[in-house]
Amino acid sequence: MNKAYYFRIYPNREQEKMLIKTFGCCRFLYNIMLEDKIRAYQETKKMLKNTPAQYKREYPWLKEVDSLALANVQLHLEAAYRNFFRDPKIGFPKFKSKHRSRNSYTTNVVNGNISIGNGRLKLPKLTAIRIKQHREIPAEYKLKSVTVNREPSGKYYVSLLYEYADCENQAESVCQAEAQNILGIDYAMEGMAVLSDGTRCIYPSYYRKMEQKLTREQRKLSKCEKGSRNYQKQRKKVALCHERIRNQRKDFQHKLSRRLAWEYDAVAVEDLNMKAMSRCLNLGKGVMDNGYGQFVNMLSYKLEEQGKKLVKVDRYYPSSKTCSKCGKVKETLSLSERIYKCECGNEMDRDVNAAINLREEGRRILCA
Ligand SMILES: [Zn+2]
Repeated sequence: MNKAYYFRIYPNREQEKMLIKTFGCCRFLYNIMLEDKIRAYQETKKMLKNTPAQYKREYPWLKEVDSLALANVQLHLEAAYRNFFRDPKIGFPKFKSKHRSRNSYTTNVVNGNISIGNGRLKLPKLTAIRIKQHREIPAEYKLKSVTVNREPSGKYYVSLLYEYADCENQAESVCQAEAQNILGIDYAMEGMAVLSDGTRCIYPSYYRKMEQKLTREQRKLSKCEKGSRNYQKQRKKVALCHERIRNQRKDFQHKLSRRLAWEYDAVAVEDLNMKAMSRCLNLGKGVMDNGYGQFVNMLSYKLEEQGKKLVKVDRYYPSSKTCSKCGKVKETLSLSERIYKCECGNEMDRDVNAAINLREEGRRILCA
C-alpha cells in the first residue's frame, strides 16, 4: 500500500534557485522530447523512443539538475503519449507553458539519496531544506518518491510517497468482534457529511469566510483589464485564496477522518462516483468543491492503517428512502423533503436517517 504525506518546505534563496532551475529543466525536456516525438510521428506514424541522456549532450546544463527528476519527465511523457496512441482522438499531449503549467518535479529514492529528519529534507543536488513535518511517519514505512511543488503564491510543498505493508488479516478480525462499533456516513451537499450519530459535519466558519473572499476577489479580477499590472496582482490574490481554501479543507478533513478512524471499528459510506454524480445532477462545482471524495479517501487509508475497514455500500441501495426504524421503503422521496416521516411514527432528519441505514447495511456486509 502507498500513502502520501504532504508538508511545507522553506527553501533558502540558494535552494529556491536550484528548485526553479529544476522545474525549468523538466519543462524544457518535456517540451523538446514531445516536439521530437510529434515530428517522428508525423513522419513515421510510430512512437519515437527518446531518452533524457540524448539531450544532455546537446544541452549540457541539463546535467546540473537532479537526473532522476529528468527520468520521471520521460516516464510522465510516455504515459501521456501512450494515451494518445490508445485513442488518437485525444490528440497529442500538450506542451508545458512557463506561466500556465504547474511548477513541480518528482524524484525517486535510490541508495539513500533522500532523507528526512530533524526538520530537514535532503534532496539530490540540494543542501538540506527546512521542512515543517507536523506528523510523525511510522519507522517501518519506506519512502519511495518525493514531488516538489511550488504554488502560484510562491510557497513550496512536498508530497512524500511511502510504501507500507498491508494488514488484511486485521481487517477480518473486525467482523469477528461482531463489528459493534460502526459508523454510517451520508454525503450532504450542505456542509460535507452527516454521521449516523446525528452529527452534521460542516466546514468551520473561517473556511466559509475564505470562500466568500474568493468570490469577491474573483469578481474584482473579472473587472481588471487582462494583462495589466493590476490584473497580475489580482490573479495572485485569487490564487492565494484558492490555496488557503484547499489547505483549510484538507486540514479539516484530516482531523475529522483521524478522529473517526480512532473512534470506530468500521465506517460505512455510499459508493458514490463523485464525478458521475456532479455530471448527472448537474450540480457542477458544488459537489466537487465540497471535497467529500477526498475525505472518504483519507478515511479509507486512516482506517486501514489501524487494521480497520471502510465499507462501501452499493450506490443503488435505497439509503434515503428506507425508514431506519421499521425498514419500510418509500417509493418516492423528493429532495425538498428534509425530514423523513414514516407511518410507523419515525420522524428524523433525512440525512441522519440515511446515515443510519448505511451503518446497518455496512454491518450486514461486514458480517456476511
Ligand atoms: Zn418506519
